[in-house]
Amino acid sequence: MSDMTSPEPKKKQENGAASLRSRLQANAPRFGVESCPHCQGLGLLFDPQAGKTGAYELCHCNRDRCRCGGEPPYMYFEESQNAMVPCPAREAYIALERIVRLNRKSGVPARFQNRFLDTLDTKDPGISLLIAMDHAVEIIYQYGKRKDPDAPDIQGLYLYGSTGTGKTHIACTIVNELIRLYQVEAHYAKISRDILNKIRESFNTSSDSYGMGGRIEKELASYEALVIDDFGVHRESPWVNSTLYDLIDSRYEKNLLTILTSNEPMDSWKELFGGRVYSRLKQVCIEIHLDGEDYRLRESRSIS
Ligand SMILES: [Zn+2]
Ligand SMILES: [Zn+2]
Repeated sequence: MSDMTSPEPKKKQENGAASLRSRLQANAPRFGVESCPHCQGLGLLFDPQAGKTGAYELCHCNRDRCRCGGEPPYMYFEESQNAMVPCPAREAYIALERIVRLNRKSGVPARFQNRFLDTLDTKDPGISLLIAMDHAVEIIYQYGKRKDPDAPDIQGLYLYGSTGTGKTHIACTIVNELIRLYQVEAHYAKISRDILNKIRESFNTSSDSYGMGGRIEKELASYEALVIDDFGVHRESPWVNSTLYDLIDSRYEKNLLTILTSNEPMDSWKELFGGRVYSRLKQVCIEIHLDGEDYRLRESRSIS
């Protein structure tokens, strides 16, 4: 079957991406036509070419069956019933609106907004990145079963490694996938810049956010899924460490998904608070060391 231009590896890659995609969306709600070759029933697509960071849109299967012209409240007049009835694509439109809204508020940096697990370019990814991706896929898969009565506790990730190993990239794709597949409030926050400044600000009487410290922490504690980028030990500031501990602890109590990235191994928390942070992290996250020196995740703009 193969000719001299060796389409085999490409074909293999495509098959791999398709099976990865079906694993990812195995437990996701369906808003499309199950037999649709474009979305495999999901009902929505992501167009990576749209705008600067790509955009979500209704899949062909929904556009073809839409009877309302895409106008809220997505109803149309059905003559046989002499009444307004829901458009067959109504649920997909509503899911799309929710995804767009969640995406806008996710905090994911623009350069990672169009990244998904099945479109990471993994040429020479290095073994540790492959392991991290495997875990990410498993997290997405399991997340769809979190409401099953016999579902195990949600387990997050602690990705550590030096700069440029792909940990932020992986973490952001998890946020994107959770929003795309489950429409949950998933959030990215960079610890040094966002969180600490905001919380510190809130203790400054001349700041606009004075007194809001509790609120910001509450917000971070309540996102259905949270990525904390640059989760490091602040040896000079026990207050910061205890704030971080409270955050992790409260998310653990609520069985919420937490993904942490760090330059330091989990071990570096061992000596703090008599090991309390460390043992909590162990309960909440699987630790993965990213050591790919040759890591190059190139932008891949092919999807669906
Ligand atoms: Zn479709
Ligand atoms: Zn419609």
